Amino acid sequence: MTIKTVGVVGAGQMGTGIAHVFTLANYDVRLFDVSDTALQKAPATIAKNMDRQVRRELISEEERAAALGRLKLLESVEGFSEVDLVVEAASENEEIKKKIFASLCPIVKPEAILTSNTSSISITRLAAATDRPERFMGLHFMNPVPVMQLVELIRGIATDEPTFTAVRDVVDALGKTTATAEDFPAFIVNRILLPMINEAVYTLYEGVGSVSSIDTAMRLGANHPMGPLQLADFIGLDICLAIMNVLHDGLADTKYRPCPLLVKYVEAGWLGRKSGRGFYDYRGEGDPVPTR
Ligand code: NAD
Repeated sequence: MTIKTVGVVGAGQMGTGIAHVFTLANYDVRLFDVSDTALQKAPATIAKNMDRQVRRELISEEERAAALGRLKLLESVEGFSEVDLVVEAASENEEIKKKIFASLCPIVKPEAILTSNTSSISITRLAAATDRPERFMGLHFMNPVPVMQLVELIRGIATDEPTFTAVRDVVDALGKTTATAEDFPAFIVNRILLPMINEAVYTLYEGVGSVSSIDTAMRLGANHPMGPLQLADFIGLDICLAIMNVLHDGLADTKYRPCPLLVKYVEAGWLGRKSGRGFYDYRGEGDPVPTR
């Protein structure tokens, strides 16, 4: 089937970025969020991020204007009757996601493909909660979506080949690169990345190094563009903890146990950049200050 219109559920960090890249690739986008505030903020965020691309001469002023013209905000899920592909990017909560798909299934066309941007929830389980497990798969974008080149494709146990091929072609049309993962906890990127971040927190917890020495060591010693603790703050420490818990529960191996210091930061509400403080304190005017 030809995919022309894409419905994005969730206008948070990821949904906004996903809407951004689809409109730029000539898809008509319908964006929905239960929070009217989040929904109404999305066009301005997308416009601002596209301005940056115009300034860097990555896109033209005309492309920016045309893309913004392809974005339509929806007040309810009824408007999803027009879409050929759904990308669900709502909060990382299995019950919320299952409810969203249950409400969408009677509305979307029978041939429409459903995908989830989940970082860690089983695609097979989400698919089983829909009326079309064979036309369901994981479509995992990286943050920030307009910048990051990779998209992970995850087949559920029932995903059929035409669905997989159609979604892979869409990612090609976005100009991004795919990596295919089987449906196991946290897929590929987070399966490898999060244990590394968790180990960096253990390194801090055990006093092997300070926040600055750990980040400097990994930036200059392993050539990582960001230190692991700086990256944890960027991802959000609550998200890091949630993914470690998914690995720990799903694979039942103690090597995935979340570091108690990570748990403590989350309990304190020190969630990283988004809350103003995590392994660094972002509340001052100057450079972020390490908190340990
Ligand atoms: P976010 O909190 O920024 O946004 C989630 C949005 O979903 C919110 O605006 C919320 O109002 C909305 N929402 C909640 N319930 C809804 C419902 N029933 N219907 C419609 N909208 C609803 O979260 P995010 O960081 O954008 O993450 C979204 C998804 O993307 C999650 O599944 C997450 O695991 C995944 N993801 C996140 C990252 C990341 O780095 N943040 C990276 C890859 C994938």
